[in-house]
Amino acid sequence: MTHRRLETAELLAVGAELLVGETRDTNSGDLARELTALGVEVLRLSALPDRLDAVADALRGALAHADLALTTGGLGPTPDDLTREAIAAVCGVEPYVDPTLEAWLRGMFERRGLPYSTANQKQAWLIPGATSLPNPNGTAPGWWVDLPDGRVIVALPGPPREMGPMWRDEVLPRLRAAGLGADRAAETLRLSGIGESMLVDVIGEETLRQPNPEVATYARVDAVDVRVSATGAAGRTAREMVDAEVERLWPALGRYVFARGDEGWPTAIARRLGDRTVALLEVGTGAQLAGMIGAEPWARLEEVRPAGAPDALDPQVAARAVRERGGCDIGVCLVAEERVDDTAVRIAITDGVRATIEDHVAFLGGEQGRRRAANIACMVLWRWLEPAG
Ligand code: ATP
Repeated sequence: MTHRRLETAELLAVGAELLVGETRDTNSGDLARELTALGVEVLRLSALPDRLDAVADALRGALAHADLALTTGGLGPTPDDLTREAIAAVCGVEPYVDPTLEAWLRGMFERRGLPYSTANQKQAWLIPGATSLPNPNGTAPGWWVDLPDGRVIVALPGPPREMGPMWRDEVLPRLRAAGLGADRAAETLRLSGIGESMLVDVIGEETLRQPNPEVATYARVDAVDVRVSATGAAGRTAREMVDAEVERLWPALGRYVFARGDEGWPTAIARRLGDRTVALLEVGTGAQLAGMIGAEPWARLEEVRPAGAPDALDPQVAARAVRERGGCDIGVCLVAEERVDDTAVRIAITDGVRATIEDHVAFLGGEQGRRRAANIACMVLWRWLEPAG
């Protein structure tokens, strides 16, 4: 059998319920993230109906391009659970009942006092080249199938609480042993105070089109992210290439960067706060700021008032008052007022010595505007706080 390094993958989510929107395909996203972090390039995600021809065709397509085809779902006992049949068809083999698996399955039914039906028999199937992956959280074992050309098919059960442990405990160790991924690295810079379209100008189209290192922008709820990723090439490691690219972009982007990776506002603010505490008052935001940072250990008091509340009149006075009510080091007052298409935002901050008040406009009104108002408040507070050290 040929040995092949697994550098590319396709993910196939099987289940009619995914196509009618009854179930959201969270499996593919979760697995894509894991594979990407391991340096495996995910070429495609697809959701498929419970039809033998559809699943078999998709598998053939996946194996034409990718080193690894990974399915979730369709491993149950019912006739519409067809993933095993589809894999057997693609491999051109007939499944057989594996005696060890059958004994395990029968034992499990006996222990629970349930009748063992012939429908369950197919959960004890195997094909040549396949290894069964134990499922301690359900009745459907998974499959690891080594193909003659070194490609691999992995079939995992659909329920995330079965899929997750099987991926972690059974698939990951095998993937690592098989030799995984190219030398890939990535770094995400989280920016605020600049919109995505402006960012395109700052970074430059040429950079955004270059293939390696790759620079991409993503508008998130709380920030705009710039993701720099690379594949090691020409004697340089992927990490070196990413670091060099981040350094090259830093003069243009650095002043907007408040966090990296998975970090958000709570972590960025906490870093600058040290051991100081904050009392927050928000007016007209529908508690958006509370939702973002209200539960942080340093947010000792969080008050929410409806739009037009008297506090809106003088945010500076309100910031001082909430600081005192909360017995905190810092008081913050955020006032949002919806206009026609946008939201006027005022933020006052004081620590009893220093104070500031800023006016901003959040693009869009309604829920979106209120959420952006809370983001702006976080940005203003973060900027106002001195960098620690
Ligand atoms: P089992 O026999 O243990 O149910 P199975 O492999 O046959 O496993 P399915 O019947 O395809 O799994 O799906 C069972 C349930 O798992 C679905 O009803 C859904 O709740 C969940 N599920 C399936 N696929 C996904 C997916 N891609 N993302 C999130 N949840 C999923």
